Amino acid sequence: MYKRFILISIFLIFVFTVNDNVFGVGSTGTDVSFWFYNWTGFDTGANISQIEDFKKFNSEGLLTQVLFDHYDSNGNFVKGLASNGTPIFKFNNSDEPRSIVIAGTHGNEYPSEAAAFKLINTLYENKDKIKGTIYVIPMSNPKAALEVQREYFGYDPNRVANNSSTFSGHIVNEVVLKENVSYVGDFHTMYDTRLKLIFAASGYPKSEKISKVIADKTNSEYYLSPNKGTITVTCAEHNLSSFTAEVEDGNNYGIILPNRDQWSYEQMLAYLDYTNNYVEDSNDNNSSDIEDNSDSSDVRQDSVNNAFPISGTGFPLLFSLFLLIYGFYSWNKNNK
Ligand SMILES: [Zn+2]
Repeated sequence: MYKRFILISIFLIFVFTVNDNVFGVGSTGTDVSFWFYNWTGFDTGANISQIEDFKKFNSEGLLTQVLFDHYDSNGNFVKGLASNGTPIFKFNNSDEPRSIVIAGTHGNEYPSEAAAFKLINTLYENKDKIKGTIYVIPMSNPKAALEVQREYFGYDPNRVANNSSTFSGHIVNEVVLKENVSYVGDFHTMYDTRLKLIFAASGYPKSEKISKVIADKTNSEYYLSPNKGTITVTCAEHNLSSFTAEVEDGNNYGIILPNRDQWSYEQMLAYLDYTNNYVEDSNDNNSSDIEDNSDSSDVRQDSVNNAFPISGTGFPLLFSLFLLIYGFYSWNKNNK
């Protein structure tokens, strides 16, 4: 009799340990959605199957192939997706933490826009690893991007984000603030002797903190920016953790120099690693990292809940252990 108890319990422990999801515990799944923002409001009419079209975008394919009106190889007219407005992607697993990745505030800065599309593909293919909610605006100004222009209707969008009637002001008001985003990364390129930089909003502790960590993780130089009207300073004024990331572009517009999109992409990954929204390799995540990370206690609460032994697989496992102990107890008793 006791031998049977021991065998059954060893078998059960094996099953519950190996198959972590036997009782349906684990991630609840990530919803992926996107819509087009047309400067006056949200248009939620986009079809999720179109994400396959976005996945065709990369640094080689360049902008006109998917996003803009063009003629295909047979001479047929193809309507570009960006004619609907600015694409905004949302990866939603749970409420917190909430982050946004913005690229293309200056339309002609292609490396960060290509990096943002690459990020969308990565997040889409690794939905299960996402925590909280991530927004990505890969090309915040499609019209300027198509025309290889930095400015938009004669103004620099990254100096007027504190004015709600501008498109960068719309992004701050209608996306960042309305969607209760806590972390804001605005990704750019620039002409400079330094290859990678991270700018913090000068005098705002949350902005300085996140900027220092990301600069450190990506070997980017850390700088303070006092410029009013940037997306970063405007968001810092709303008490958010915001920063501007830059990669050097050699003063080239409309093309992507080698590695520039990769550097920008790495800055994005370092950012989402810091916020705990997307940790690419959990083995890299040592305990001091977790200590330094996000201002939100909800993230850590989540992992504490999963570790609680009575929930999910914990109970069957405890039951098996009980059987095992009972089996040994009977065995011991019989031997006396
Ligand atoms: Zn820029």
